[in-house]
Amino acid sequence: MELRRLKTDQPDLASAVDLQIELVQLQRRVQSRVPLPSIRLEPDYLNELLANPPILQFEHLPIDWSDMRFLLRATASTMRTHEAIEDPHFRIAEMLSRDSERLPIVARTWYEGVRPDAPSLDPEEAGLEAVLQQAMRPFLTRAADAIMARIDFRGWTKGTCPLCSGEPDLAVITPAADRLLICARCSARWRFHQLACAFCENSDRKRITSFTSRDGRYRLYACDVCQRYLKAYDARQASRPVMPAVDSVATLPLDAAAMQKGYR
Ligand SMILES: [Zn+2]
Ligand SMILES: [Zn+2]
Repeated sequence: MELRRLKTDQPDLASAVDLQIELVQLQRRVQSRVPLPSIRLEPDYLNELLANPPILQFEHLPIDWSDMRFLLRATASTMRTHEAIEDPHFRIAEMLSRDSERLPIVARTWYEGVRPDAPSLDPEEAGLEAVLQQAMRPFLTRAADAIMARIDFRGWTKGTCPLCSGEPDLAVITPAADRLLICARCSARWRFHQLACAFCENSDRKRITSFTSRDGRYRLYACDVCQRYLKAYDARQASRPVMPAVDSVATLPLDAAAMQKGYR
């Protein structure tokens, strides 16, 4: 409903909204039957793991491989319809969705590839990050929700996700003016410095450029040290909570503005 409202309010986002609606619907078909992750869900144990992150290892993820094959194929095909994936990458995704030996290897490499010491995807599969991230989402968010219900990440002050080591792609400013980062991969949320850069931890106010969207709903923080930026939903005067699936699309004009200024 929120996505459809966004389309009415901002017709120029129609194509991006349609793609997002289809992706959300695909993920919903699988989401309801994803089981709990195979990790001990005890607060003390989980807090112990926080000393040596990430908490969530690939082996813990509740992946059903026939669901994963379906999601990969359907996600790639939806993205192709909306011109969000190149043809060669689409073909590789399709091949991979039929290769039950290769797929788990690629999924693991993608999942673990965010760690600095980990190998990255093979060159031919390197263009599949966006597809894999969408296809893996139901399994990752299910695992993250189960863990977040048991621990609060107090004491975690880094810019990367304590659960999966992913990077945030959105933040939310709470009514108490805290800033919570939201993982782009598993949607885990954790509190972070109100202003500092989540990517390089620069906290020099003079080297952070911040601006808001015209309607005041969103804020963008751009770092003049590493040139990266992060968007935030300002929930202080908002009528609804943050909804990453909606807010990531609603902020596409902010992305364009930041990129025009040379940030990435
Ligand atoms: Zn994460
Ligand atoms: Zn930075």
